[in-house]
Amino acid sequence: MNGQWRLTRTPAQGMPSDGDFAWSEDVIPQPGAGQMLTRTIYLSLDPYQWGRRLRGEEAPGEICHGRTVSQVLESNVDGFAPGDYVFNTNGWQTHGLSGKDISVFGYMFPRKLEPTLAPISTALGVMGMLGLTAYAGVYVQCQPKAGETVVVSAASGGVGQNVGQIAKLHGCRVVGIAGAAHKCNFVVDELGFDACVSHLSDDLATQLAAACPDGIDIYFENVGGKVFDAVLPLLNAHSRVTRCGLISQYANNKGSDAATNWLASGQATFERCHTQVHALLVRNFVEEYQDQFFSKMADWIRAGKVKYREDLWSGLESAPQALSAMLKGDNFGKTLIAVSQDPTLDEQLAQKRAKGNILA
Ligand code: NDP
Repeated sequence: MNGQWRLTRTPAQGMPSDGDFAWSEDVIPQPGAGQMLTRTIYLSLDPYQWGRRLRGEEAPGEICHGRTVSQVLESNVDGFAPGDYVFNTNGWQTHGLSGKDISVFGYMFPRKLEPTLAPISTALGVMGMLGLTAYAGVYVQCQPKAGETVVVSAASGGVGQNVGQIAKLHGCRVVGIAGAAHKCNFVVDELGFDACVSHLSDDLATQLAAACPDGIDIYFENVGGKVFDAVLPLLNAHSRVTRCGLISQYANNKGSDAATNWLASGQATFERCHTQVHALLVRNFVEEYQDQFFSKMADWIRAGKVKYREDLWSGLESAPQALSAMLKGDNFGKTLIAVSQDPTLDEQLAQKRAKGNILA
Protein backbone atom coordinates (compact mmCIF):
# COMPACT_ATOMS: atom_id res chain seq x y z
CA MET A 1 0.00 0.00 0.00
CA ASN A 2 0.99 3.62 -0.52
CA GLY A 3 1.14 5.45 2.82
CA GLN A 4 0.32 9.16 2.50
CA TRP A 5 -0.10 12.34 4.50
CA ARG A 6 -2.80 14.67 3.20
CA LEU A 7 -3.55 18.23 4.24
CA THR A 8 -6.95 18.38 5.97
CA ARG A 9 -7.49 22.16 5.91
CA THR A 10 -5.84 25.44 5.05
CA PRO A 11 -4.12 26.07 8.38
CA ALA A 12 -4.68 29.14 10.46
CA GLN A 13 -1.62 31.28 11.17
CA GLY A 14 0.88 29.81 13.56
CA MET A 15 2.61 26.48 13.90
CA PRO A 16 1.30 23.17 12.51
CA SER A 17 -1.11 21.25 14.74
CA ASP A 18 -2.21 17.62 14.74
CA GLY A 19 -5.47 18.26 12.91
CA ASP A 20 -3.75 19.79 9.89
CA PHE A 21 -2.72 16.40 8.49
CA ALA A 22 -4.45 13.05 7.97
CA TRP A 23 -2.76 9.69 7.31
CA SER A 24 -4.28 7.46 4.66
CA GLU A 25 -3.34 4.45 2.57
CA ASP A 26 -4.06 3.93 -1.08
CA VAL A 27 -3.14 1.35 -3.68
CA ILE A 28 0.26 1.83 -5.26
CA PRO A 29 -0.39 3.48 -8.63
CA GLN A 30 0.60 2.06 -12.01
CA PRO A 31 2.78 4.25 -14.22
CA GLY A 32 1.20 5.34 -17.50
CA ALA A 33 2.98 6.37 -20.70
CA GLY A 34 5.84 8.79 -19.93
CA GLN A 35 5.65 8.02 -16.21
CA MET A 36 7.65 6.02 -13.71
CA LEU A 37 6.80 4.58 -10.31
CA THR A 38 9.30 5.23 -7.55
CA ARG A 39 9.53 4.35 -3.87
CA THR A 40 10.48 7.22 -1.60
CA ILE A 41 13.74 6.75 0.30
CA TYR A 42 14.18 10.26 1.78
CA LEU A 43 11.67 13.10 2.13
CA SER A 44 12.90 16.66 2.60
CA LEU A 45 11.13 18.93 5.08
CA ASP A 46 11.68 22.61 4.38
CA PRO A 47 10.33 25.83 5.90
CA TYR A 48 8.75 26.89 2.58
CA GLN A 49 6.35 23.91 2.73
CA TRP A 50 4.54 25.45 5.68
CA GLY A 51 4.39 28.83 3.91
CA ARG A 52 2.66 27.22 0.92
CA ARG A 53 0.07 25.64 3.17
CA LEU A 54 -0.59 28.86 5.09
CA ARG A 55 -1.06 30.72 1.82
CA GLY A 56 -3.55 28.12 0.58
CA GLU A 57 -1.30 26.97 -2.27
CA GLU A 58 -1.90 23.36 -1.21
CA ALA A 59 -5.59 22.41 -1.28
CA PRO A 60 -7.22 20.43 1.56
CA GLY A 61 -7.26 16.75 0.57
CA GLU A 62 -4.05 17.01 -1.46
CA ILE A 63 -1.01 14.89 -0.68
CA CYS A 64 1.44 17.19 1.09
CA HIS A 65 4.14 18.52 -1.21
CA GLY A 66 7.78 17.64 -0.63
CA ARG A 67 10.95 16.91 -2.56
CA THR A 68 12.29 13.39 -2.34
CA VAL A 69 15.06 10.99 -3.21
CA SER A 70 13.59 7.78 -4.57
CA GLN A 71 14.36 4.54 -6.34
CA VAL A 72 12.72 3.67 -9.63
CA LEU A 73 10.52 0.54 -9.46
CA GLU A 74 8.93 0.67 -12.93
CA SER A 75 9.67 3.09 -15.74
CA ASN A 76 8.11 4.26 -18.99
CA VAL A 77 10.43 7.27 -19.12
CA ASP A 78 13.41 7.31 -21.48
CA GLY A 79 16.69 7.37 -19.60
CA PHE A 80 15.29 6.01 -16.31
CA ALA A 81 15.40 2.29 -15.47
CA PRO A 82 14.31 0.22 -12.47
CA GLY A 83 16.94 0.47 -9.74
CA ASP A 84 17.99 4.04 -10.66
CA TYR A 85 18.08 6.64 -7.90
CA VAL A 86 16.32 9.92 -8.62
CA PHE A 87 15.67 13.32 -7.14
CA ASN A 88 11.94 13.88 -7.59
CA THR A 89 8.85 15.29 -5.92
CA ASN A 90 6.85 12.39 -4.52
CA GLY A 91 5.61 14.49 -1.62
CA TRP A 92 4.65 13.00 1.71
CA GLN A 93 3.98 9.48 0.42
CA THR A 94 5.83 6.20 0.27
CA HIS A 95 5.39 5.75 -3.50
CA GLY A 96 4.78 8.21 -6.30
CA LEU A 97 4.55 8.71 -10.03
CA SER A 98 7.08 10.94 -11.75
CA GLY A 99 7.50 12.12 -15.28
CA LYS A 100 8.00 15.28 -17.25
CA ASP A 101 4.27 16.00 -16.98
CA ILE A 102 4.24 15.53 -13.19
CA SER A 103 6.17 18.37 -11.68
CA VAL A 104 5.26 20.86 -9.01
CA PHE A 105 7.66 23.50 -10.21
CA GLY A 106 8.94 23.75 -13.78
CA TYR A 107 12.53 23.04 -12.79
CA MET A 108 11.68 20.04 -10.64
CA PHE A 109 11.77 17.37 -13.32
CA PRO A 110 13.18 14.10 -12.03
CA ARG A 111 16.98 14.06 -12.04
CA LYS A 112 19.03 10.88 -11.99
CA LEU A 113 21.49 10.61 -9.09
CA GLU A 114 24.94 9.09 -9.15
CA PRO A 115 25.50 7.44 -5.73
CA THR A 116 29.28 7.36 -6.21
CA LEU A 117 29.41 11.18 -6.51
CA ALA A 118 27.89 11.82 -3.08
CA PRO A 119 25.46 10.05 -0.71
CA ILE A 120 22.01 10.17 -2.30
CA SER A 121 20.42 11.96 0.68
CA THR A 122 22.59 14.99 -0.12
CA ALA A 123 20.49 15.67 -3.22
CA LEU A 124 17.99 17.15 -0.76
CA GLY A 125 20.59 19.22 1.07
CA VAL A 126 24.17 20.12 0.43
CA MET A 127 24.20 18.70 -3.14
CA GLY A 128 20.74 20.02 -3.92
CA MET A 129 18.55 23.06 -3.54
CA LEU A 130 19.90 24.07 -0.13
CA GLY A 131 23.52 23.96 -1.21
CA LEU A 132 22.69 25.85 -4.40
CA THR A 133 20.74 28.43 -2.39
CA ALA A 134 23.80 29.07 -0.24
CA TYR A 135 26.12 29.23 -3.27
CA ALA A 136 23.80 31.53 -5.23
CA GLY A 137 23.38 33.91 -2.31
CA VAL A 138 26.82 34.14 -0.81
CA TYR A 139 29.04 33.45 -3.82
CA VAL A 140 27.11 34.64 -6.89
CA GLN A 141 25.16 37.55 -5.40
CA CYS A 142 27.48 38.82 -2.65
CA GLN A 143 30.88 37.98 -4.20
CA PRO A 144 32.90 37.50 -1.00
CA LYS A 145 36.49 38.72 -0.86
CA ALA A 146 39.24 37.37 1.39
CA GLY A 147 39.33 39.16 4.72
CA GLU A 148 35.70 40.30 4.65
CA THR A 149 33.31 39.50 7.50
CA VAL A 150 30.32 37.36 6.57
CA VAL A 151 27.41 36.82 8.97
CA VAL A 152 24.75 34.16 8.44
CA SER A 153 21.64 33.48 10.52
CA ALA A 154 20.10 30.01 11.08
CA ALA A 155 23.77 29.09 10.83
CA SER A 156 23.51 25.41 11.72
CA GLY A 157 20.59 24.71 9.38
CA GLY A 158 20.49 23.28 5.89
CA VAL A 159 21.27 26.55 4.09
CA GLY A 160 23.27 28.30 6.82
CA GLN A 161 25.92 25.63 7.29
CA ASN A 162 26.76 25.81 3.57
CA VAL A 163 26.82 29.61 3.46
CA GLY A 164 29.43 29.76 6.19
CA GLN A 165 31.62 27.02 4.78
CA ILE A 166 31.56 28.48 1.26
CA ALA A 167 32.52 31.90 2.68
CA LYS A 168 35.37 30.30 4.66
CA LEU A 169 36.65 28.68 1.46
CA HIS A 170 36.89 32.21 0.03
CA GLY A 171 39.02 33.45 2.90
CA CYS A 172 36.35 35.32 4.86
CA ARG A 173 35.86 35.71 8.59
CA VAL A 174 32.56 33.93 9.22
CA VAL A 175 30.22 34.57 12.12
CA GLY A 176 27.09 32.47 12.61
CA ILE A 177 23.91 33.29 14.50
CA ALA A 178 22.04 30.28 15.85
CA GLY A 179 19.82 29.31 18.77
CA ALA A 180 20.90 26.69 21.29
CA ALA A 181 24.49 26.45 22.57
CA HIS A 182 25.08 23.03 20.98
CA LYS A 183 24.26 24.53 17.56
CA CYS A 184 26.64 27.45 18.11
CA ASN A 185 29.38 25.07 19.24
CA PHE A 186 28.77 22.84 16.22
CA VAL A 187 29.27 25.56 13.62
CA VAL A 188 32.51 26.70 15.26
CA ASP A 189 33.99 23.34 16.31
CA GLU A 190 32.83 21.14 13.43
CA LEU A 191 32.29 23.51 10.51
CA GLY A 192 35.13 25.92 11.22
CA PHE A 193 33.20 29.19 11.58
CA ASP A 194 35.21 31.85 13.42
CA ALA A 195 32.47 32.62 15.94
CA CYS A 196 28.80 32.06 16.60
CA VAL A 197 26.39 33.99 18.81
CA SER A 198 23.01 32.93 20.10
CA HIS A 199 19.87 34.85 19.22
CA LEU A 200 18.40 33.47 22.45
CA SER A 201 20.74 35.59 24.56
CA ASP A 202 19.55 38.87 26.07
CA ASP A 203 22.45 40.84 24.64
CA LEU A 204 22.56 39.56 21.06
CA ALA A 205 23.47 43.00 19.69
CA THR A 206 26.46 43.38 22.03
CA GLN A 207 27.68 39.84 21.41
CA LEU A 208 27.38 40.22 17.65
CA ALA A 209 29.27 43.51 17.72
CA ALA A 210 32.05 41.83 19.72
CA ALA A 211 32.23 38.96 17.21
CA CYS A 212 32.43 41.40 14.28
CA PRO A 213 35.09 43.95 15.31
CA ASP A 214 35.48 45.14 11.70
CA GLY A 215 31.75 45.36 11.04
CA ILE A 216 29.78 43.20 8.59
CA ASP A 217 30.52 43.14 4.87
CA ILE A 218 28.05 40.42 3.89
CA TYR A 219 24.89 39.37 5.68
CA PHE A 220 22.98 36.26 4.60
CA GLU A 221 19.46 36.61 6.00
CA ASN A 222 17.49 33.46 6.84
CA VAL A 223 15.55 34.70 9.82
CA GLY A 224 14.51 38.38 10.04
CA GLY A 225 13.03 39.96 13.17
CA LYS A 226 15.30 40.78 16.09
CA VAL A 227 18.29 39.08 14.47
CA PHE A 228 18.08 41.52 11.57
CA ASP A 229 17.77 44.41 14.05
CA ALA A 230 21.07 43.35 15.61
CA VAL A 231 22.82 43.11 12.24
CA LEU A 232 21.77 46.48 10.79
CA PRO A 233 23.94 48.80 12.95
CA LEU A 234 27.03 46.73 12.08
CA LEU A 235 26.76 46.86 8.29
CA ASN A 236 29.78 48.40 6.60
CA ALA A 237 29.87 50.81 3.69
CA HIS A 238 29.31 48.93 0.41
CA SER A 239 28.09 45.86 2.26
CA ARG A 240 25.99 43.23 0.52
CA VAL A 241 22.89 41.57 1.92
CA THR A 242 21.04 38.55 0.57
CA ARG A 243 17.49 38.05 1.80
CA CYS A 244 17.09 34.31 1.51
CA GLY A 245 14.36 33.68 4.09
CA LEU A 246 12.56 35.23 7.05
CA ILE A 247 11.68 32.16 9.07
CA SER A 248 10.88 34.07 12.28
CA GLN A 249 8.01 35.72 10.37
CA TYR A 250 6.50 32.72 8.56
CA ALA A 251 4.09 31.49 11.20
CA ASN A 252 2.37 34.86 11.53
CA ASN A 253 2.56 36.16 8.03
CA LYS A 254 0.69 34.70 5.11
CA GLY A 255 1.66 37.04 2.33
CA SER A 256 4.58 39.10 1.16
CA ASP A 257 4.22 41.56 4.07
CA ALA A 258 7.23 40.04 5.80
CA ALA A 259 9.56 40.94 2.93
CA THR A 260 8.08 44.43 2.60
CA ASN A 261 8.45 45.12 6.32
CA TRP A 262 11.98 43.73 6.34
CA LEU A 263 13.03 46.03 3.51
CA ALA A 264 11.36 49.04 5.12
CA SER A 265 13.15 48.47 8.43
CA GLY A 266 16.52 48.23 6.70
CA GLN A 267 16.04 50.97 4.12
CA ALA A 268 17.69 53.88 5.95
CA THR A 269 20.77 51.80 6.78
CA PHE A 270 20.97 50.36 3.27
CA GLU A 271 20.93 53.87 1.80
CA ARG A 272 23.48 55.23 4.24
CA CYS A 273 25.86 52.29 3.66
CA HIS A 274 25.24 51.98 -0.11
CA THR A 275 24.37 48.37 0.63
CA GLN A 276 23.53 46.11 -2.29
CA VAL A 277 20.39 44.19 -1.32
CA HIS A 278 19.54 40.98 -3.13
CA ALA A 279 16.33 39.00 -2.94
CA LEU A 280 17.09 35.34 -3.53
CA LEU A 281 14.98 32.77 -5.32
CA VAL A 282 16.99 29.63 -5.90
CA ARG A 283 15.03 28.51 -8.93
CA ASN A 284 16.41 31.53 -10.83
CA PHE A 285 19.92 30.12 -10.48
CA VAL A 286 19.28 26.51 -11.51
CA GLU A 287 19.79 26.82 -15.25
CA GLU A 288 22.98 28.89 -15.15
CA TYR A 289 24.69 27.73 -11.96
CA GLN A 290 23.52 24.25 -11.00
CA ASP A 291 26.12 22.27 -12.96
CA GLN A 292 29.12 24.35 -11.84
CA PHE A 293 27.83 24.21 -8.28
CA PHE A 294 27.43 20.40 -8.24
CA SER A 295 30.90 19.94 -9.64
CA LYS A 296 32.52 22.29 -7.09
CA MET A 297 30.54 20.98 -4.15
CA ALA A 298 31.28 17.32 -4.97
CA ASP A 299 35.00 18.20 -4.96
CA TRP A 300 34.70 20.11 -1.68
CA ILE A 301 32.88 17.23 0.02
CA ARG A 302 35.36 14.64 -1.27
CA ALA A 303 38.28 16.79 -0.08
CA GLY A 304 36.67 17.18 3.36
CA LYS A 305 36.42 20.96 2.84
CA VAL A 306 32.66 21.01 3.30
CA LYS A 307 30.92 19.03 6.01
CA TYR A 308 27.21 18.69 6.45
CA ARG A 309 24.83 17.59 9.09
CA GLU A 310 21.48 15.88 8.57
CA ASP A 311 18.66 15.72 11.09
CA LEU A 312 17.22 12.35 10.20
CA TRP A 313 13.77 11.19 11.37
CA SER A 314 12.70 7.61 10.94
CA GLY A 315 9.49 6.67 9.11
CA LEU A 316 7.01 8.77 7.13
CA GLU A 317 4.65 8.72 10.12
CA SER A 318 6.96 11.24 11.81
CA ALA A 319 6.61 13.93 9.11
CA PRO A 320 4.13 16.30 10.86
CA GLN A 321 6.10 16.12 14.12
CA ALA A 322 9.40 16.70 12.31
CA LEU A 323 7.97 19.70 10.43
CA SER A 324 6.85 21.34 13.67
CA ALA A 325 10.22 20.63 15.28
CA MET A 326 12.07 22.25 12.40
CA LEU A 327 9.88 25.35 12.37
CA LYS A 328 10.51 25.78 16.11
CA GLY A 329 14.28 25.35 15.72
CA ASP A 330 14.37 21.91 17.32
CA ASN A 331 16.09 20.48 14.23
CA PHE A 332 19.85 20.22 14.11
CA GLY A 333 20.95 20.24 10.48
CA LYS A 334 19.02 19.51 7.29
CA THR A 335 15.68 17.91 8.21
CA LEU A 336 15.04 14.62 6.39
CA ILE A 337 12.64 11.74 6.85
CA ALA A 338 14.08 8.29 6.16
CA VAL A 339 10.97 6.81 4.54
CA SER A 340 12.39 3.48 3.40
CA GLN A 341 15.67 1.64 3.26
CA ASP A 342 18.63 3.29 1.50
CA PRO A 343 20.49 0.48 -0.32
CA THR A 344 23.46 2.76 -1.03
CA LEU A 345 24.21 3.40 2.63
CA ASP A 346 27.54 1.75 3.25
CA GLU A 347 28.90 0.73 6.62
CA GLN A 348 31.10 3.83 6.93
CA LEU A 349 28.26 6.26 6.32
CA ALA A 350 25.91 4.34 8.59
CA GLN A 351 28.45 4.58 11.42
CA LYS A 352 28.94 8.31 10.92
CA ARG A 353 25.20 8.79 11.07
CA ALA A 354 24.99 6.76 14.25
CA LYS A 355 27.54 9.15 15.79
CA GLY A 356 25.33 12.16 15.32
CA ASN A 357 24.78 12.78 11.65
CA ILE A 358 27.93 14.82 11.13
CA LEU A 359 28.98 13.76 7.69
CA ALA A 360 32.05 14.80 5.80
P1 NDP B 1 16.93 25.32 8.67
O1 NDP B 1 17.49 23.96 8.59
O2 NDP B 1 17.87 26.48 8.84
O3 NDP B 1 15.83 25.30 9.82
C1 NDP B 1 15.25 26.46 10.26
C2 NDP B 1 16.06 27.13 11.39
O4 NDP B 1 15.60 28.45 11.55
C3 NDP B 1 15.83 26.48 12.74
O5 NDP B 1 16.67 25.36 12.94
C4 NDP B 1 16.16 27.60 13.69
O6 NDP B 1 17.55 27.59 13.99
C5 NDP B 1 15.87 28.87 12.86
N1 NDP B 1 14.70 29.55 13.40
C6 NDP B 1 13.42 29.11 13.45
N2 NDP B 1 12.63 30.03 14.02
C7 NDP B 1 13.43 31.06 14.34
C8 NDP B 1 13.20 32.32 14.95
N3 NDP B 1 11.98 32.72 15.35
N4 NDP B 1 14.25 33.16 15.13
C9 NDP B 1 15.49 32.81 14.74
N5 NDP B 1 15.78 31.62 14.15
C10 NDP B 1 14.75 30.76 13.94
O7 NDP B 1 16.07 25.63 7.37
P2 NDP B 1 16.60 25.76 5.87
O8 NDP B 1 18.06 25.74 5.82
O9 NDP B 1 15.84 24.81 5.05
O10 NDP B 1 16.09 27.24 5.46
C11 NDP B 1 16.73 28.39 5.97
C12 NDP B 1 16.05 29.61 5.35
O11 NDP B 1 16.29 29.63 3.95
C13 NDP B 1 14.55 29.64 5.56
O12 NDP B 1 14.16 30.96 5.85
C14 NDP B 1 14.02 29.20 4.19
O13 NDP B 1 12.73 29.68 3.94
C15 NDP B 1 15.05 29.84 3.27
N6 NDP B 1 15.17 29.26 1.94
C16 NDP B 1 15.05 30.13 0.88
C17 NDP B 1 15.25 29.70 -0.41
C18 NDP B 1 15.20 30.68 -1.51
O14 NDP B 1 15.18 30.32 -2.70
N7 NDP B 1 15.16 31.96 -1.20
C19 NDP B 1 15.50 28.28 -0.72
C20 NDP B 1 15.65 27.45 0.47
C21 NDP B 1 15.47 27.94 1.74
P3 NDP B 1 18.08 28.05 15.43
O15 NDP B 1 17.61 27.03 16.40
O16 NDP B 1 19.54 28.10 15.26
O17 NDP B 1 17.45 29.39 15.67
